[in-house]
Amino acid sequence: MDVSSLLDGLNDKQAEAVKAPQTSMLVLAGAGSGKTRVLTHRIAWLMQAEGQSPYSILAVTFTNKAAAEMRERVEHVVGANMSRMWIGTFHGLAHRLLRTHYQDANLPQSFQILDSDDQLRMIKRILKSMNLDDKQYPPRQAQGYINGKKDQGLRPKHIDASIFPIEQNLLKIYQIYQDSCDRAGLVDFAEILLRAHELWLNKPHVLAHYQDRFKHILVDEFQDTNSIQYAWIRVLAGDKANVMIVGDDDQSIYGWRGAQVENLHRFLQDFPTANTIRLEQNYRSSANILNASNELISNNPDRLGKNLWTDDKDGEPIGLYCAFNELDEARFIVSRISEWHDNGGDLTSCAILYRSNAQSRVLEEALLNKGLAYRIYGGLRFFERQEIKDAMGYLRIMSNKDDDAAFERVVNTPPRGIGGRTLDILRTTARQHDLTLWQACLQVLEQKMLPARAGNAVRGFMDLIVKLQQDTMDMPLYRLTDTVLQHSGLKGMYQAEKGEKAQARVENLEELVTAARTFELPEELEEMGELNGFLSHAALEAGEGQADAFTDSVQLMTLHSAKGLEFPQVFMAGVEEGLFPSKMALEEGDRLEEERRLCYVGMTRAMEKLTITYAESRRIYGREDYSRPSRFIKEIPAKYVDEIRLKTQVSIPSSRTSHSDSRFNKPRMQKPQPKLAFTQNHESGLSSGQKVTHSKFGDGKVLDVEGSGPRAQVKVNFDDYGVKTLMIAYAKLETI
Ligand code: ATP
Ligand code: MG
Repeated sequence: MDVSSLLDGLNDKQAEAVKAPQTSMLVLAGAGSGKTRVLTHRIAWLMQAEGQSPYSILAVTFTNKAAAEMRERVEHVVGANMSRMWIGTFHGLAHRLLRTHYQDANLPQSFQILDSDDQLRMIKRILKSMNLDDKQYPPRQAQGYINGKKDQGLRPKHIDASIFPIEQNLLKIYQIYQDSCDRAGLVDFAEILLRAHELWLNKPHVLAHYQDRFKHILVDEFQDTNSIQYAWIRVLAGDKANVMIVGDDDQSIYGWRGAQVENLHRFLQDFPTANTIRLEQNYRSSANILNASNELISNNPDRLGKNLWTDDKDGEPIGLYCAFNELDEARFIVSRISEWHDNGGDLTSCAILYRSNAQSRVLEEALLNKGLAYRIYGGLRFFERQEIKDAMGYLRIMSNKDDDAAFERVVNTPPRGIGGRTLDILRTTARQHDLTLWQACLQVLEQKMLPARAGNAVRGFMDLIVKLQQDTMDMPLYRLTDTVLQHSGLKGMYQAEKGEKAQARVENLEELVTAARTFELPEELEEMGELNGFLSHAALEAGEGQADAFTDSVQLMTLHSAKGLEFPQVFMAGVEEGLFPSKMALEEGDRLEEERRLCYVGMTRAMEKLTITYAESRRIYGREDYSRPSRFIKEIPAKYVDEIRLKTQVSIPSSRTSHSDSRFNKPRMQKPQPKLAFTQNHESGLSSGQKVTHSKFGDGKVLDVEGSGPRAQVKVNFDDYGVKTLMIAYAKLETI
């Protein structure tokens, strides 16, 4: 084969990286400059031009989807099946390693993965058993603490918590949590990485084997590796492997999860012979989009600095739409997509990106109303749905009776008379004697610690699991799944419920049987068996391969999960202060820069058209917020932007004058009226000193009236509630 064809479709700099001599290398470049393309071509080059065996290559990608694509492309180039090649995410690869060396990693063969939802439930139970108040110790905080420590490679024994009493308790929670996981054969996501790293450190023969094997290590999206991931790569590479990392400091968006952009510097120190190659041409976005993104990110200090250009045409300006509220915003976006679709565009070309998952619901509704198919990428996942997790709980406990998380999930689902009191006895027994819940059942039954009725119920549950296990032993996975759904009573329970939701749950359960039927155990994981393979697949790859992945559908996702992807049409929704940048980021200074990088990531996903929307008021997280457009909008020079106005608009004067950018001072459009008309705006004649009454706060006296129009506010001193500032449009104040 003519290896020079491997350089087709690459510019000089890219080609230089692809065919560089076998050494370590850093490809540092901005969005859309072809980093991922270079990495893929490099793999093919190593095999075809350098004669390297696919078994000597380890490639780390950011998502399972990216891994599958890369594998496919390599297979295409090489013309052979590459299923045994190690391409995957950090979690996927580490998991594979732990499966292969479960004994060396001190894990039972049937260990299961605890997803973050199950992890949180488990932590809640532990807090309860420790009699800790979950106001003072919010379960999510404890979860963050545990995962944060694991991401830094720290076990409880490594932590000195003597200084802060709060941390002492968190540490205790960590310890108890870890003991429970170990007893039950459960590993959480952070644990997968930590164990894999410890495997290197504790089992030199295992490490030596892989060091001998992997001569080439390639990592995409390197800027988002955390300490433990870096350490894992560092140890594996030793002083022989060639490591190629590609990344972009401007796209580092997981600092909040412990990712360390400093790893880029650390890499250059640890691999002093590494060359740095910079790519500067962007092939993804039209000039307007690229230039606007460059301007935005230039507001961040301390960048490594890159100069990205494109020879693409200016293209369309960035659309900016100010919506009245989140419903108006969703309607607007959906109508634009619908227009695009009517003109022959495909839905899959359209992505709606948002800062918070909670924003998706309204968008979904608007899409449903219009009858447009959509897909939530990496969001609400099939395998995360309640009924699916129930079903998986049965499969898990059949695979491993000591799986406490699964036990808790299914022991009384459907209800079988095992109540809170019985469970408390089981939990206490388990804790006191260092047993798993299943073992505690055995002990409690043997010692007749339960009233007869409860005892029978527990025995009934155990018999059911054992019988299911026996009956399904020789069945193929899908029949096993179907049998479990029928005989556990789970399907019957949802069938008996009425309504659409229950119907959807039954359909999901049926879909699970299909999922089991189409599940193919990867060759490299054959030893673990079909059932365990399926369970791990569910926990690890959830969401990325949703059933409707192939139908033409609008793509919905958070900005975080959009990393590395590209779409002709991108809508960024909810670009408002307090939402994006998020409130939390605003409270912590250094987080603002990360939010700006996230905005840069979002904007640079767009190839042809970028539309940014924000709403003047938004109902989210169960409350109503009024906010200003995000500072990020103001950071985009006006020359790249086209403020979108609807044809039916009637101009009313803007109430805002605070923006230095003239775009915000233009007359704004007439928005759909809210349910409560502006009966109490400035024209209603509220003035200082006036007595008013409010349905909740009671009587009070107006102190001040600020602004005009829909955003006018009134400050009232209520007799019983003190001073409150309210939006006049919504406060429904009556004068008295
Ligand atoms: P990100 O930072 O967003 O991950 P990236 O640097 O990995 O981006 P790629 O996804 O590899 O960039 O490439 C962006 C787009 O440009 C892709 O559609 C890719 O196929 C295309 N592309 C890359 N290099 C070239 C080239 N030399 N000629 C034409 N198209 C290219
Ligand atoms: Mg990429």
